[in-house]
Amino acid sequence: MLNIAIDGPAGAGKSTVAKMLAKNLNIVYLDTGAMYRGVAYYVIQKGVDPASESAVIPLLDGIQMDILYENGMQKVMICGDNVTPFIREHNISMAASTVSKIPAVRIKLVELQREIAAKTPCVLDGRDIGSYVLPDAPYKFYMTATPEERAKRRHLELMQKGVNISYQAVLDDITARDYQDSNRAFAPLKATEDAIIIDTTDLTPEQTAEQIMKKVCS
Ligand code: C5P
Repeated sequence: MLNIAIDGPAGAGKSTVAKMLAKNLNIVYLDTGAMYRGVAYYVIQKGVDPASESAVIPLLDGIQMDILYENGMQKVMICGDNVTPFIREHNISMAASTVSKIPAVRIKLVELQREIAAKTPCVLDGRDIGSYVLPDAPYKFYMTATPEERAKRRHLELMQKGVNISYQAVLDDITARDYQDSNRAFAPLKATEDAIIIDTTDLTPEQTAEQIMKKVCS
């Protein structure tokens, strides 16, 4: 199965590049971060603290998540509701990182990710795709960039969406998420030995996508 794993920290450009690859190769793009964001959104809606494992776990059975595609765009559905428009909010980013530390949350979402990847050729982006979700993926990439460059990109993206937030707040969020994602006990963010590491600090998304396309098509 053509599964392309792209891991890396927030703001490394994974989703932009993954979308380009999926389009070029005419395969599906699975944004696994959106799934953790969906759980975080649901948990917050229920008035539950995403950091409270004992309060989050009882909610999991009630989360019927489906991933749908409409005009090539991924939709995260929870119990039939499209939560996609709400999961990009700034406060959901950290909540997603916090809820994703809970092993039961990861096990539930990884099951769905593996199911999709087994049925469909796809490019998946996340933190643990190459290390845990699909350790046998034929192509593994790890994209990174300096924290300052990643914060700059994320800040620009948020400003373009009309979100009024300072660069420093975005940098602080990215640094805290990097730490939390890399230091959790279960399936932390890491580059596997067989992953090709791409530092995107001085690369455009097109240049990064081209490097990956060369490997995949060689
Ligand atoms: O990729 P994105 O920034 O949307 O992901 C939000 C959060 O979800 C990350 O900070 C990370 O904690 C978590 N995540 C994860 N494993 C993945 C994808 C995302 O733990 N495969």
